[in-house]
Amino acid sequence: MDANRDEPDARTGRIDEKFKPVFEACDSASRKALFQYFLPTHSRKPRLAPTRPRLIKWYCPFASQKVFPSGHRYCLNVYAGCGHRCLYCYAAAYSPERPAPKRDFERLLRKDLEDLERFNVPPAPVHLSNSTDPFQPLEARHGHARLALEKILETRHRFSTVTVLTKNPLGAATRGCLELFKALTILPAGHPRHAEFSASGIPPFCVEVSLAFWRQEPASVYDPCAPTPEERREGIRRLRAAGIPVVLRIDPLFPRSPLPGGLALNHFGLAEAQTLHDLEQLVRFAKDMAVRHVVYSTVKIVQPRGRPLDPVMGRLRLVFEKLAAPGRPPFHSGSWRLPTPLAGQVVVQPFLALCADYGVQAKHCMRNLIEAP
Ligand code: SF4
Repeated sequence: MDANRDEPDARTGRIDEKFKPVFEACDSASRKALFQYFLPTHSRKPRLAPTRPRLIKWYCPFASQKVFPSGHRYCLNVYAGCGHRCLYCYAAAYSPERPAPKRDFERLLRKDLEDLERFNVPPAPVHLSNSTDPFQPLEARHGHARLALEKILETRHRFSTVTVLTKNPLGAATRGCLELFKALTILPAGHPRHAEFSASGIPPFCVEVSLAFWRQEPASVYDPCAPTPEERREGIRRLRAAGIPVVLRIDPLFPRSPLPGGLALNHFGLAEAQTLHDLEQLVRFAKDMAVRHVVYSTVKIVQPRGRPLDPVMGRLRLVFEKLAAPGRPPFHSGSWRLPTPLAGQVVVQPFLALCADYGVQAKHCMRNLIEAP
């Protein structure tokens, strides 16, 4: 037997610097469990980073852990690709164009859960799903989101906060998931984190609903295959009526007219996606629904994998290029973006002012780490 296999602490020196603080903050039993669960323990590579070949993976492994300290958290993408086809989807840069169920999903999920048990991995938050909508149209046929949530409920002691992110809360509510959501909202008395959750008041389950547009017109352009804004609002009403904690993602935020330099979106052939009135309606709705907080970020444009940029996003890119400072191209970190000071001043500040007026807490998406005590 390879002696090192039983001595993960001896290999911590090989863990990529980005991830080391997470391991170093653990006691030795947890460090050993994380090492065995996340790291390629047989690898001969000089640097080890979390690679989980099955389903329950490290949360945001691509992001810089300094900017987005994902820590010991899981993401579980229940499908590959997404049928909602939002034009601004960052996952389009690496996801397949045609959404599909993952092969062998149930068996692989069971093996991952067995490993969490076998290695005695301490409980951590889990997010469904970073790169796909768990309640997209595929769910009606395959039921992978429901299956995953049922399995998580069965192994509740291995998870702390469970978060579902969707544009289809009404579909989830009407497909009989409300009882499952309610069950996930209550930590059993024997759960290792029961006392901390009870003391903090942080709910151990929540649904994050994406609703960037108040009106149907922009939603038909930018979220062409997703449920309508009214369907999403109705889904949120049902979740809240059932006592399910909700976070509203007014995300992404779009530029609006007038733009600096006497420009307007219609000069580029674009309609207004989010007027200030739209944003106010969204923030007021968040307040009325008593959501936990709202999440925002400014819109980015990514090149979809293996296909051309949609013409609408091509026109938005022209806006970004026109507003970019000389010598500062608007493409960086894998996407086209509005210049940061301008995005802050023109897009974000008016939104934050509305949130302040209505007493609604707003969190930037990079700071919206899954809450856990
Ligand atoms: S719902 Fe989310 S994952 Fe699906 S296409 Fe839209 S932004 Fe992408």
